[in-house]
Amino acid sequence: MKTALAIEVTKTSQSKLAQTDFDNLMFGQTISDHMFVADYENGEWTNLRIVPYEPLSLNPANATLHYGQSVFEGMKAYKNDAGEILLFRADANQKRLNASAERMCIPEVPEEIFMEGLYKLLEMDADWIPQKPGYSLYVRPFIFATDDYLGIRPSQKYSFMIFTCPVGHYYAKPVTVKVEQTYTRAAEGGTGYAKAAGNYAASLYPALLAQKQGYDQLLWTDGKTHQNIEESGTMNVMFVVNDTIITAPTHTGTILKGITRESVLILAKEMGYVVEERFMTVSELEKLLQAGKLTEAFGTGTAATIAHIAKININGVDYELPAKGEDAFSNQVLRKLDAIKYGKVTDTHGWIRKV
Ligand SMILES: *Cc1c(COP(=O)(O)O)cnc(C)c1O
Repeated sequence: MKTALAIEVTKTSQSKLAQTDFDNLMFGQTISDHMFVADYENGEWTNLRIVPYEPLSLNPANATLHYGQSVFEGMKAYKNDAGEILLFRADANQKRLNASAERMCIPEVPEEIFMEGLYKLLEMDADWIPQKPGYSLYVRPFIFATDDYLGIRPSQKYSFMIFTCPVGHYYAKPVTVKVEQTYTRAAEGGTGYAKAAGNYAASLYPALLAQKQGYDQLLWTDGKTHQNIEESGTMNVMFVVNDTIITAPTHTGTILKGITRESVLILAKEMGYVVEERFMTVSELEKLLQAGKLTEAFGTGTAATIAHIAKININGVDYELPAKGEDAFSNQVLRKLDAIKYGKVTDTHGWIRKV
């Protein structure tokens, strides 16, 4: 892609590439050499630049630190067999970032700044994208308030940044989950549909309580009745009963509209499955588990793509789900998605962009 915008580039003089162990990547710990930055001042995004990844200097009165006016995205870039860089549905992430931003009174980042900054960053740090099955480059765009002011109001200044991390498989083994019926992740009219920093801070404590009991994640229920299963920590959740895929609808505004979720549902329909976007209730799930009728349960999200659920705790009772064979829906759809993302099949959905 030709760069039309003026992006100033400062290359690192000390690349970390040579000392990076690509065989032992911990999710989010290894960060590539450069980052893209833009500043919002006087009503416009300016000072577009790529600089070495480095610590920021912040005033202690920085508005984000106190009031959390911050939103983020997560997506992945892949390398195909020819070594070309492929982006999966980055346009959807760009739109969702702005939808989240609007909810938090953060100014939108124009599509061309997002895309041109991203493409240039990926070109510069192309060697950081592992060319290995299951491996990819996780991309983290985010916007945060930068006013140094303690009054509560929308900040007048912001920074937009993108940095990247080479990653391997997120969840190597299936996850165990606990259905949460005391704490609430998101309420109607709240910020659940936004990828806003505060949502995740608020979910840490209930998740920690579950982890102390031996579960990896929570299955959140709605804030009003705690009967409807909504989603998991950073994943949407799907249940399979024979040829039907059941997943929570997104119209309540309490559920993050996952791009993996949408992609899986599109593929499921093409594969001849029935898709039901409706709430699975806790008691329905309990009955299915008791009767051994739940065929599969799994999470969907960019980090893991598909995370199989091996155990579900409802009201103190553990239900084990048998391991899934190659022909399980979740494994079939995972292979299909991977084939698209790594450029092994023709992209008939317009999901892939070559950088
Ligand atoms: C990011 C996220 C997801 C998954 O979204 P993808 O676009 O598929 O990565 C689901 N739920 C929550 C709460 C999230 O933050």
